[in-house]
Amino acid sequence: MKIAVLNAGSSSLKCKVFEFPAKTLLFSQEIEKIGESDSDIASHAEALEALDIDLREIDIIGHRVVHGGEKLQQSVVIDESVITTIKDLIPLAPLHNPANLVGIEVARQKAPNIPQVAVFDTAFHATLPKEAYLYALPYELYEKEDIRRYGFHGTSHSYLAKEAAKELKKELRELNIITLHLGNGASACAIKKGKSIDTSMGFTPLEGLVMGSRCGDLDPEIVLYLQRELGKTPQEVEHILNKESGLLGICGENDLREIVLREDERAKLAVAMMVRRIQKYIGAYMVLLEDVDAIVFSGGIGEHSQSVREMVMDNKLFKNIKMLVIQTDEELEIANESYRVINQRSSSHKTQ
Ligand code: ADP
Repeated sequence: MKIAVLNAGSSSLKCKVFEFPAKTLLFSQEIEKIGESDSDIASHAEALEALDIDLREIDIIGHRVVHGGEKLQQSVVIDESVITTIKDLIPLAPLHNPANLVGIEVARQKAPNIPQVAVFDTAFHATLPKEAYLYALPYELYEKEDIRRYGFHGTSHSYLAKEAAKELKKELRELNIITLHLGNGASACAIKKGKSIDTSMGFTPLEGLVMGSRCGDLDPEIVLYLQRELGKTPQEVEHILNKESGLLGICGENDLREIVLREDERAKLAVAMMVRRIQKYIGAYMVLLEDVDAIVFSGGIGEHSQSVREMVMDNKLFKNIKMLVIQTDEELEIANESYRVINQRSSSHKTQ
């Protein structure tokens, strides 16, 4: 059977088609710069039209959805109530969930009879214990407003855990690792006995590591100061923290390939800050895990930058820990999940 995966980012659409159960990649296409001035593609709906595949020839469509909130903590077959819940979650993921929804809605119009599955970036972190996912804020903000750590990049961390288990020849349920997904967005995850027990991204994908243009961890008072003392609006602050910070904020560039070629202080400082933050998280997660089988590097930076890997691992505390470099494949993991969910549904229909 053919499984198509649609991964609609804020300004891009990735599509891969796999043959299952063999997991062979049959098709891959990425449309970037959606809605930008130098692009012919004005919207996600147009991008879906522009894909060189006929969705009606597909058996299952799997969608990446960034935020599943408290209600959607596992992959699900999409129906009206799932769509309503994803819509309700837009305030928690304003850049991502709307694009994901367009993907779902257009695919449903074009291929109304094909089962579609939503796979959430947050789902792998549903196993976080309460002491990890609560912020030390008034408890009602969690109870009434769902303010808590959700964590993201879950499909990637989950895929990396399964691949690491294969490489280390261990059962997933016995695996203790720290996974580092280092792309433009970046996050770390502490995985104990195969399950996520802590992760660096939080209520939104802004918390944690120093990223391409996101600041990561910050004293929250800075946000208030920017508004109160510098007169910034919430939208301006959001823009500064998400789009003008991180590596870009420090050295004017967010592409690590370019940064490592530079000799100037700011470029070196940006990399040093990113590396130090990653090391702090590894140290913290070593304490939580106690035994660590491996540190796994992935994402554009983790997979390709040997110098960043060496800088991160250059610490006496990490010297006996195995390092693995694994190419992540979020689309394949979404296809795996979609296949599992649809098979589970058909076998439960049979037993009814
Ligand atoms: P996204 O989060 O957008 O999916 P990627 O996982 O593609 O991001 O990672 C993008 C980052 O990876 C960029 O900072 C880019 O410079 C970096 N990168 C990609 N290839 C290399 C390379 N060969 N050496 C160093 N950095 C690289």
